[in-house]
Amino acid sequence: MFCRFFRFFVKRATFSAGKLFYLCKGKDIFNRTACSAATVFIEWGETLSFIEVKGLRKVYRLGQEKVYALKNINLNIEKGEICCILGTSGSGKSTLLNMLAGLEKPTRGDIFINGVNIAKLSERKLAKFRQENTGFIFQAYNLLQQLSSLENVGMPLMFKGYSRSKRDREARKMLKLVGLESRMKHRPNQMSGGQQQRVGIARAFVAKPNVIFADEPTGNLDTKTTTDVMELMVRMCRKHNLTLILVTHDLDIAKYADRIVHLIDGDIHSDELNEAIYNPDEAESGSAENTENTGKEPAENETKK
Ligand code: ADP
Ligand code: MG
Repeated sequence: MFCRFFRFFVKRATFSAGKLFYLCKGKDIFNRTACSAATVFIEWGETLSFIEVKGLRKVYRLGQEKVYALKNINLNIEKGEICCILGTSGSGKSTLLNMLAGLEKPTRGDIFINGVNIAKLSERKLAKFRQENTGFIFQAYNLLQQLSSLENVGMPLMFKGYSRSKRDREARKMLKLVGLESRMKHRPNQMSGGQQQRVGIARAFVAKPNVIFADEPTGNLDTKTTTDVMELMVRMCRKHNLTLILVTHDLDIAKYADRIVHLIDGDIHSDELNEAIYNPDEAESGSAENTENTGKEPAENETKK
């Protein structure tokens, strides 16, 4: 928490220093070196965030009617941050997540991820960017029914051109990590909802993305399984310092995040830091049972979905 505040403070201070230099440069107070310093300061202060959203708008047209799903979103997210987008149904959460993940194009505005403005990429470059940088976890799991867990998890690697044996090797490692080593050959309809979502999580992480997007990932799960799945996602992200952007309407889920961005009617209503309720390091030191494995065995009482 302190680090996050410190980073925020350094960033603001640097940006302000840059602005100050910039304002003074026309008044002959500083020479050319100072002007260069101003540029460096401003650029460094401005580009520090891993994800930067500027003036984002999305308007859908329904016949004559215009739906302003997102009005004017400005948001910075840091590397390794778990950020929750919280809001009621229809507030624009999924629209925002889809834009950030490059699944839909905004009507207006910019989305910088790791310095690349994905709002301006061609479809071909965007597809490549998504493959190399992003993982997506869906509420309804979105697994291919005719494929086994192993094949589902290996899918993102197929798009990357991996051979069958390499795909299987990586997928097996991931399934083990999420506690599903005994379900490699199972198809989605032979598993519970919680198990299917574990497969979904393994698939999202297998290609080692920089950022994971999750849209109501526990929306179809019971309370016990929800806790298991949330803790698993947090453990996986913390372990690899991955950024997680999580959409939910449920305040109890939002409490897992470092930061809660509250959306109302397509605009940010509040944006606050949060003390996450689950800390894998503390949980690990408090439990002698925990091993290197980040996954847990699936709960016995998981319901079939
Ligand atoms: P949430 O995920 O918060 O429930 P959405 O982002 O799905 O909300 O939707 C935000 C608003 O945009 C809603 O009013 C919804 O009806 C509208 N909307 C979303 N997708 C479309 C679409 N493809 N066409 C028209 N309107 C849409
Ligand atoms: Mg939604």
